[in-house]
Amino acid sequence: MQINALAASRPGGPLQPFTYEAGPPEGHHVLIRVHACGLCHSDLHVLDGDWGEMEYPLVPGHEVVGEVAALGPLVAHLRVGERVGVGWQSGACLGCQDCLRGHDNLCDDQTATILGGRGGFADFLPADSRFAFPIPASIGSDAAGPLLCGGVTVYSGLRHAGMGSGQEIGVVGLGGLGHLAVQFAAKLGNRVTAFTTSPDKAEFAASLGAHRAVVLEPGGKFPAPERKLDIILDTVPHTLDWEGCLSHLASDGVLNVVGVPQEPLSIPVLAFQDKRRRIMGSSIGSRAEMRDMLTLAAEYGILPLVETFPFSRANDAVDRLRTNAVRYRAVLVRD
Ligand code: NAP
Ligand code: ZN
Repeated sequence: MQINALAASRPGGPLQPFTYEAGPPEGHHVLIRVHACGLCHSDLHVLDGDWGEMEYPLVPGHEVVGEVAALGPLVAHLRVGERVGVGWQSGACLGCQDCLRGHDNLCDDQTATILGGRGGFADFLPADSRFAFPIPASIGSDAAGPLLCGGVTVYSGLRHAGMGSGQEIGVVGLGGLGHLAVQFAAKLGNRVTAFTTSPDKAEFAASLGAHRAVVLEPGGKFPAPERKLDIILDTVPHTLDWEGCLSHLASDGVLNVVGVPQEPLSIPVLAFQDKRRRIMGSSIGSRAEMRDMLTLAAEYGILPLVETFPFSRANDAVDRLRTNAVRYRAVLVRD
């Protein structure tokens, strides 16, 4: 069959109609009829060539929600017509030590939906059913998309940084990831400080559950801390004032960098050595965390705020993301 997609033909180029052929699903694969697809900043990094050379034409979109249209012969756990979602990861070896421990997102042989493959800015997406997750009935398709990359990344990132409840959590950057991180941290029983460069988001942060908001200048210094934090999740795609940011951590506090700045980190050692602070990174989440995250999102009402665009206006969505105008996640929906 012919799949109608949107693709860029060069780094930074506009998205244009592009078609490709796909056979019926084989083995563990399914064919998904796409209802909606979120636009993550990682799509923008990849479209702009920030992460090196890519294969073109490049079809972005890795927050894909749709219904199963056809099943491969080995798929026993999904039904035709069932609503499922696919995030950043499209596959793993499922046999290495990381996969066997349930850390399939750490597999050396993992594949990504939009790297070398073709993403969800399309009418259909061929996908490995083992990386397609049933969507809880109470979560609409527009809202489900951003949970599949943004949601699982911040949920897993906060958990692996040690988040339980009753802690002081900081979130830097209230974009697609950050506005979900504030909700997960607050609704699971923590006090949240939101750091943002956007005054309107500082005003709105309380509606997401934040207890305090701190306004930062883009590229500027962090103010002196008024309250020390156990965990800071950094979701900003740019370099921060790392020393100032770390000064907001309590002793034994953890900074988890999930945003992807272009430059390497440059941090004076004493900024983390003195108070036994730790700096870590984390990448998306495992399949088990994806299921936990979707269940919690449904039960605690943790949902993204979305701006929807018809697929035909995908370039407008990309432009708004590029200028930090989106509140809080752009999602493409079927025209
Ligand atoms: P996004 O929607 O563009 O949000 C990023 C936010 O960062 C912006 O909304 C803005 O928030 C803040 N920001 C932008 N420029 C800034 C600056 N110069 N100084 C301080 N803050 C600034 O992006 P996203 O989709 O949430 O993705 C964020 C980053 O996470 C990207 O680098 C993406 O590639 C990465 N990511 C990583 C993973 C992973 O597995 N580790 C998964 C998904 C995405 P304010 O307006 O509040 O300042
Ligand atoms: Zn993403």
